[in-house]
Amino acid sequence: MVKILARGENEKMGFLNDVGKKTADTTSKIAKEAKLKLKTNENKSKISDLYEEIGKIVYEKYVREEGINIKEELREECEKIDFLAIEIEKARMEILKLNQKRQCRKCNCEIQNNYVFCPRCGKKQIEEENTCFDEALEKLEETEITPKNKKKEKIVKEKLEKLEKEE
Ligand SMILES: [Zn+2]
Repeated sequence: MVKILARGENEKMGFLNDVGKKTADTTSKIAKEAKLKLKTNENKSKISDLYEEIGKIVYEKYVREEGINIKEELREECEKIDFLAIEIEKARMEILKLNQKRQCRKCNCEIQNNYVFCPRCGKKQIEEENTCFDEALEKLEETEITPKNKKKEKIVKEKLEKLEKEE
């Protein structure tokens, strides 16, 4: 009797531990997502500031009736925007991952990780670990290969095959 009770208690404790673990996982997921969203908002506001800065520089040039060489004079600002945009995109991908979602390879809509086909466009989703290899191969197949490029094609294919074997 004592034994049975003890086992029952153990099971109950085990169950409570599971619930506790799940709650902790969910909490950390929510915390991570909130952090990523906050970072994204910060980056978006930095981009707005840079737009403002660029606008100001351009307007001052206009007032002084001067021309502007974008590549020379606004390079730094434009590169900063590029960098921030990449950070925003990375955070978006991480949030998708946290929610066990991914982006369709064709139409870019959000879908569940375990879907084999996209419910919107029907594109077959390839396992993530193969994506790079398959995409590279797909691109290679799409490329029109002239006799001049044949040698290059062979080299690329060999490299890809080697990479696949290594994985
Ligand atoms: Zn799709």
